[in-house]
Amino acid sequence: MAIILDGRKVARDIESEIAEEVKKITDKGNRPPHLVAVLVGEDGASKTYVSGKMKACDVVGYKSSLIRYDETITEEELLNKVDDLNEDKGVDGYIVQLPLPEHISVEKVIDRIYPSKDVDGFTPANFGKIDQEHHSLLPATPMGVIELLNRYDIETKGKHCVVVGKSHIVGMPMGILLAGPGDATVTICHIHTQNLEEHTRKADILVVAVGKPGLIIGDMVKEGVVVVDVGTTRVPDATKKKGFALKGDVEFATVEPKASYITPVPGGVGPMTIASLIMNTMIAYKKAMVLE
Ligand code: NAP
Repeated sequence: MAIILDGRKVARDIESEIAEEVKKITDKGNRPPHLVAVLVGEDGASKTYVSGKMKACDVVGYKSSLIRYDETITEEELLNKVDDLNEDKGVDGYIVQLPLPEHISVEKVIDRIYPSKDVDGFTPANFGKIDQEHHSLLPATPMGVIELLNRYDIETKGKHCVVVGKSHIVGMPMGILLAGPGDATVTICHIHTQNLEEHTRKADILVVAVGKPGLIIGDMVKEGVVVVDVGTTRVPDATKKKGFALKGDVEFATVEPKASYITPVPGGVGPMTIASLIMNTMIAYKKAMVLE
């Protein structure tokens, strides 16, 4: 039976550690760190993610602000807000929750965010520093995955890690973090990968970030594999109060018996992404306070 990589518990531990740090900071008369979330439109999943992030701020003692816009907001208006947040000395870090409406270029918005306030770790400047010793703010989800592995003493050095998915925000930075600082041998798979199972079966550590429930089944992994399931898809489920269930990319019932460690969905990577955001905000705050 696999050991469950309990992201919820680890995230709570991290939040307690940060809360202690915030108390020390504010006891000395300093203001607490301030995280801002910008939410455009009414996407249900986005609202849930943002509310989780705001709640975590409350838990650790950060100031948090939510700025909401109707989905009719123009690209220029949103870019102006980004400019304001960049210049606001009372804001240490901010996120623009994705996805954005189609008429707004995600690339333009992300490019405009000051790297020093980019607590999601999405900007090209932060992406470009991922494998450097003095890296800046790391992409939140891959950073959370590494933190989770570290907290369970799972070594990546010399291991064969297979990452399925190569998005800019998860798969690709995940691969770089594992191969760079993680000293692993990395295979990155994607939609054009042929015979996916030939790659996944070789994985000592398998990270899946696709968004297709049940993509990875028991036959596709070897005994003893460490499985990290980033996938989070809302699947209709009449038995649930909300009318849907969250599903990962990994078929838990068939993969778990072969794995040594595995993340649940929900309760695995999701809480770790929020914990990373909280950690990144503290890093941004400390740098800003020295500069101020
Ligand atoms: P994305 O931008 O849609 O990227 C999905 C990736 O999967 C792409 O690289 C795509 O390949 C690849 N892919 C698609 N079908 C595939 C297949 N059949 N076999 C192999 N690879 C395939 O998604 P994302 O933003 O990375 O998110 C991925 C999943 O993680 C989603 O379920 C998302 O909700 C979840 N997520 C969770 C968290 C969290 O905190 N838990 C955070 C972020 C994302 P191509 O590039 O070749 O098209």
